This record gives sequence, structure tokens and C-alpha cells, in this order.
Amino acid sequence: MKLFKGLRNVLVNQKVLFYWFLLILIVPNICLCFTESWSPMAKLTQVLLPLSVYYGLMSTLFKNCGKTLWILFPLVFLGAFQIVLLYLFGQSIIAVDMFLNLVTTNSNEALELLDKLLPAIVIVVLLYLPALIAATVLVWKKDPCPAAFLRRERRRSLWLLGGGVLALLATYLTDSRYDPKTDLYPLNVCYNVQLAFQRDAQIRHYHETAQGFKFHSRPTHPLHQREVYVMVVGETSRAQNWQLYGYPRATNPALKKIEGLTVFTHVLSESNTTHKSVPMLLSAVAASNFDSIYYQKSILTAFKEAGYATAFFSNQRYNHSFIDFFGQEADRVEFVKEAGLKADANPSDDDLLALVREELSKGADKLFIVLHTYGSHFNYRERYPADMAYFKPDAPVDAKVKYRSNLINAYDNSIRYTDRFLAQLIALLDRQEVNSAMLYTSDHGEDLFDDKRHLFLHASPVPSYYQIHVPFLLWTSASYRANYSAISQVAEQQKEKQISSSASFFPTMLQIAGIQTVSRNDTLSVVNELFKEKTRWYLDDHNRARRLTDVGLEAPDFDMLDKTGFTY
Ligand SMILES: [Zn+2]
Repeated sequence: MKLFKGLRNVLVNQKVLFYWFLLILIVPNICLCFTESWSPMAKLTQVLLPLSVYYGLMSTLFKNCGKTLWILFPLVFLGAFQIVLLYLFGQSIIAVDMFLNLVTTNSNEALELLDKLLPAIVIVVLLYLPALIAATVLVWKKDPCPAAFLRRERRRSLWLLGGGVLALLATYLTDSRYDPKTDLYPLNVCYNVQLAFQRDAQIRHYHETAQGFKFHSRPTHPLHQREVYVMVVGETSRAQNWQLYGYPRATNPALKKIEGLTVFTHVLSESNTTHKSVPMLLSAVAASNFDSIYYQKSILTAFKEAGYATAFFSNQRYNHSFIDFFGQEADRVEFVKEAGLKADANPSDDDLLALVREELSKGADKLFIVLHTYGSHFNYRERYPADMAYFKPDAPVDAKVKYRSNLINAYDNSIRYTDRFLAQLIALLDRQEVNSAMLYTSDHGEDLFDDKRHLFLHASPVPSYYQIHVPFLLWTSASYRANYSAISQVAEQQKEKQISSSASFFPTMLQIAGIQTVSRNDTLSVVNELFKEKTRWYLDDHNRARRLTDVGLEAPDFDMLDKTGFTY
């Protein structure tokens, strides 16, 4: 009883609460000092400067520090969000994309991860909730802090501010790349919030800014010769688990037997997120010119202008952004997942084949189809029917390192299912006996607890080798190979070149179909003799192109890049 009373006295003691509130405000800064690779001086600034500001606010704003904490609630909220993310990814501040994802992606994906987030949510509640309750009690009791105490603390905060400013100056002097906008919490997160609003506005105005855009494309192939081209954008499929890329398991039994298939071996994606990677694959936009996306249209319009009937079939949900905008340029658009009556509908990628069959049966002279599959997205076991589980056991597959072998089995089953899907698609095209081609890549790869870092899934603020090495395949029909033998030959010659899927998918598809436009850069087309290996870029959260050596890849990633023969 005495202990309880003592504790209660401490908890209503303004002076104790003053320091407690200060401590919880500075916790995210302290955590970031452990997770980020900033210089020691930058870390000192990271703690001293914000602490002095919080200190100043706590001792100046109100006599009742409970009131001050509630006024600073946005900081408490950001701190909680930041700590959850640090728990999930082990590093990085809250990214622009994370704010944007709140409005552009569907909630199902976030809910899939809820299990994994639960411990972090418990930590955050334990950390912040008691302080907020204590602050509420203080406000309710209207009990002010002694004026002399606040005066003394104000003086101390000024001393601390002086120290913080000196640390900031020293950081500028010793670290030429230091920028508070990206390296000082919570300023960097506020900057990201502002960028998210700016980008959201640009997305909303896209239809106006891109309205007048034209490719001025023209066909160069004979007008009355039937041609069918299919571009397949896969999901979360990493080259490491493809038998065609040297994986020892039988994940590609069907494609292995197919004639006319060229496997490009050294292909990296310039993003590890769907919502950035897919628009780059579908347009002339890549990391090096990403902001031009607000003024451009996609490959569907380029084919349409050249006289093609076009279709966009997706097995993903609406993303309310560029994937939808670009897809909707097609003459026929179907999102099979959105067509389902039930919100939890889980159609198979095979449903897309039925739509392709339908389009082919219409017999258009010139037909171009883009397929957006769900491929190998977590939860892997839901990506293939149970009777097609070849690698077993494939359950349980919770996102935990102890289930790694089950997860790999399930993931490999999904790759094997993609193998079958692509082989069936090729067979459909082959039966048409026309000039035909299929170009496939995946938007990004996936981490599967591959090394001691225990990384899992994709879209983390810092990519890994496994998240960016993607398969890239070209299939051409016998008649196409006969009529355009040069294209097939050049493809074979260049299949081991260093390629960026994000930059090369678009011009390669246009060239295969013989479509000319000023937007087609032949030095990026992997079926063009003019193809040139270029600097490798990666698209960062601020939409800037960064060198691969400058995006936070770690030693295990560079080891894998070296081992698999990449230059970067
Ligand atoms: Zn994706």
C-alpha cells in the first residue's frame, strides 16, 4: 500500500513528469542513433538539438507540462509510427512512400503484416500510453509546475540549445553530405510529409498534366500481317529461385522445354516497390527521369497510336495511382480481383489466360496485351492451388524465420506455378501461328530470410540484392523468328549484358513490335545492336536516381552481386 502511494505521488509530481515527458519525446532520436549509419557528430546533433527544442517548449509553452505534452501530441504520434517502422525494417526514417501508401494501396496488404507488427505495437503502447494518461491527469488537476523550477529548466534548455547548435556546425564541417532535411529527426519526417502531400497533388492532377501527351508512334511492320504481343509484369519473383537462372530445384519444368525463349541473366529492377516499379516497366520513365511520369503516358498508348487493339488485364487490386492510370489507357481493361463480388476474392493468375483467349478469338490484326499478375506475392501459399504444391511441406508459413524452409517451399511452388502460367500463355500464342512475342519480367524480388540479417518480404526502405535481381524473358514465335531473325539473334547475343528492367522493358517491347517513336531509346532496347550497358541506378524515396553503391546495400548484397556477375 505504501509502495502504491509512493508511486502515485511520483506520478503526479510535476517535476518528475517533466523529465519523463522529455525522455519519451527523445526516444525515437536515440533509437535512430543505433539504427542509422550517420557520423558520430551527426548522431550527437540528432539527440542534442531536438532535445533542447523539446526542453525549451516544455519549460516555456505552459505552466502545466501535461498540457504541453498534449500540444506536442503530433510528435508523440510520429515517434510511435517511427518506432514501429524501426522494429519492422530495422532502419530508416518514415518514408514519403509510407505516407503515400496510406492513400494509394489497399489495406489488405497492411493487415497481412499485422501479426508481425504486434510486438512493436505493444512496445509503443507501453511506452506512450502511461505518459499520455499522466498528462491527462495533470491537465485535469490544473496543477501548475513551480515557476522557479520552470525558470531553471528554461536556462538549462538554452545551454543545451547552444550545445546542439555547436554540434550541428561541427557536423556540417565534418560531413559534406549532411542535410538536416534528410538526416535530422523529426525534421526529415516533416519534410517527407510535405513531399507526400506534394506528390499526392501531382497524382491527382495527372490527367490534366499528361492530357496532351503523344508518342507520335508509327508502325514499321507490314500493315496486313497479323501480330500479337503480350507483355507480362510479374510480382515478387526473384531470379534466385528460377531454375532457368541456375536454381537447383525444378521450378521451371515447363519453360525449360520451350523453344524460342531467351533468358536475360543480369537484370536488376530500379525499385523494390510495386507502385514505382510497374509504372517504370510500362513507360519510358526510369529512375533517372522519374519525375517526368506526371507528363507521360504508357506503352498502351504507344501501341494504340500505332493502330493496335490494346488490353490491360490485372490480377491485382486498384492502386489509385499510375498502374491504374496507365492500365486504363487500354481499349479493354479488366481487374479480375476487383470484379469479384467478395472483398477477399483470390483469383488465380490463370484467370488472366481466359481473358487472353477471349481477346485472341476476336482475331484483331494487331493486338497488344499487358498482363499484371499476382505471381509470388506473400502469402505464397495462396498463389497456387493446394493440389499443385510440389515442394512440401508448405505449411505453416507464418512470417517467421523458424518456418523458413516451409516458406521457401511455398515460394518455389508459386514460381513453379508462374512457370506453368507463362508456358500456357506461350502455347496460346503459339497456336495462333502468327508473328508473336511475349516479354516477361517481375516488378521486384523478395527477401526470404536469406542471410543472418533475417530480411523478409520487399519494399523495405533499403533494398537488398534479393529484392532487385529479377528474371527477364523473351519468347518469340517460329514465324516471328523467321520474319525478324535479326531481333532474335541480337537478343541471344545480348542475353548476358548488364540490363535494367525498369529502363529496358519499354523500348524492347516497342522494338519487338516494330513501333517507332521519339520516346524509344534504342540504346536501352536489349534486342537492338545499339544497346549499351549503362550506369546502374536505383530510385530512392525522394524520387532521385542513386548509384547502387549509395542506397545502403550491405556486404552480403555486394557479395551476391559479385557472385552472380553483376557490375554496379
Ligand atoms: Zn510488387
